Amino acid sequence: MNQKFSVPESVANVAKTLETGGFEAYLIGGCVRDLLLGRTPKDWDITSNATPPEITALFPKTFYENEYGTVGVVTEGIEDETLKVVEVTPYRLEGGYSDKRRPDKVSWSTNLEDDLKRRDFTINAIALRLGKETRGNYEGTLVDLYEGQIDLAKKTLRTVGEPTARFSEDALRMLRAIRIAVELDFTIDPETQKAIVENAEHLKEIAPERIREEFIRILMSEKPDYGLILSHKLGVLRFMAPELEEGIGVDQNKAHSYDVFEHCIRTLAHAAKKKFDLETRLAALFHDIGKIPTRRFSDEKHDWTFHGHDVVGAKITAKILARLGFPKKTIEVVTKLVRWHMFFSDTEQITHSAVRRIVGNVGTEHIWQLMNVRLADRIGTGRPKESPYRLRKYHSMVDEVMRDPLSVSMLKINGAKIMEVAGISPGPAIGLILHALLEEVLDEPAKNTEEYLQSRAKELAALPEKALLDLGEKGKQTKVKEEEKHIREIRKKHWVE
Ligand code: ATP
Ligand code: MG
Repeated sequence: MNQKFSVPESVANVAKTLETGGFEAYLIGGCVRDLLLGRTPKDWDITSNATPPEITALFPKTFYENEYGTVGVVTEGIEDETLKVVEVTPYRLEGGYSDKRRPDKVSWSTNLEDDLKRRDFTINAIALRLGKETRGNYEGTLVDLYEGQIDLAKKTLRTVGEPTARFSEDALRMLRAIRIAVELDFTIDPETQKAIVENAEHLKEIAPERIREEFIRILMSEKPDYGLILSHKLGVLRFMAPELEEGIGVDQNKAHSYDVFEHCIRTLAHAAKKKFDLETRLAALFHDIGKIPTRRFSDEKHDWTFHGHDVVGAKITAKILARLGFPKKTIEVVTKLVRWHMFFSDTEQITHSAVRRIVGNVGTEHIWQLMNVRLADRIGTGRPKESPYRLRKYHSMVDEVMRDPLSVSMLKINGAKIMEVAGISPGPAIGLILHALLEEVLDEPAKNTEEYLQSRAKELAALPEKALLDLGEKGKQTKVKEEEKHIREIRKKHWVE
């Protein structure tokens, strides 16, 4: 077959150096899979019969990556961060797994076959040996002992070897299966699926941080809803967020068509469609988790109520994220977004001070994430999009309350300094001088220097009372006018009146 592979020169050079040094070198794993799929590889892995000391000896700059003998080869003069380090791992044989997590001992092999055998999925076990290059494209020989290319064509994920054995060696592979299937939009082979169902329990032996990393990748994929529903179906969602599953069959009030579980998943799906960040996606997923314990039937309303579900939901969210070992900062932000997701947003009725309180609750740096959670929530409920005008109006109000207010505090001088330089005592004159100075600075921002303002303050202090009063009042009016102008500009930007 005359397939060509587009491989960065820096990566190909590492393989070439190994071969010139008398060793075998194959591109392996995700990068070969992605090349065959026409996707851009995230990182580049090479496997070789060279041992770690032999690899290290061939390159000027290397470092040890992990306990598996992986050597990071630093490629010189490369701008692109993702191409800077090529990971070279010796062919590996794995010993037994007594704890379903880590091989008891890692030993090197001289056979590529051994290395392919220990890899997780057929599509990740294809090795590529580079050949002749023409203009950045390489000829190549594929070593595909497990029909990985057939599975790629069928868009199927299948374990190398017997799935139950492979999952009991390393239970994390079950989550990797789901994560990779979701990222590539593949299905999981029925035998492999069955083994996940049967071995799911072993996931409780896996460190939370490793589970978290797969959970994050499922959430950040294009179709996290597919990932979580598949996780539920195969019995592994309970190792990520069992609380979500309690929402299955928990019907909501008449305004909602979906149960709590489906609503949360649909909200997340929309957040992914809009490419929102991780914090927003987490908040979208968990925003209504508090509805499960707070649901009560109201005889008066003849419907379900969920009083306090935002407060309770924030607590449950914090617990889930802490259990998975998320960083404190992430927990803080996501919890806030869940806590405040119920904000009132009817632009016909809401006041600026109400908007100001909402911004105050989550902080200016998270207000747009909160808006996005609300947007996703609405779509996840099955309601039509907010009218574009109302949405723009709301966004404009947020911008309006967040703009820096014009005030005398912008000046490079304050009341105390004025009293000092002008030799006057406290009284209404100080405020008038400050406003007269503000007027000048608004007119000519370059005047906002300590030197100018101090000498000008002295002059103003010497003016007759009436003249200073006029200048001060004029300053106040200019401030009001300037503020109105700012607000008009913000509204224009958002296309609202
Ligand atoms: P991506 O880089 O896009 O996340 P990847 O498949 O390259 O995907 P890595 O975590 O970089 O994933 O792993 C590189 C390769 O190492 C995999 O393709 C697979 O062959 C092997 N591998 C990784 N984790 C395991 C595991 N838990 N069990 C067996 N083989 C694994
Ligand atoms: Mg990889």
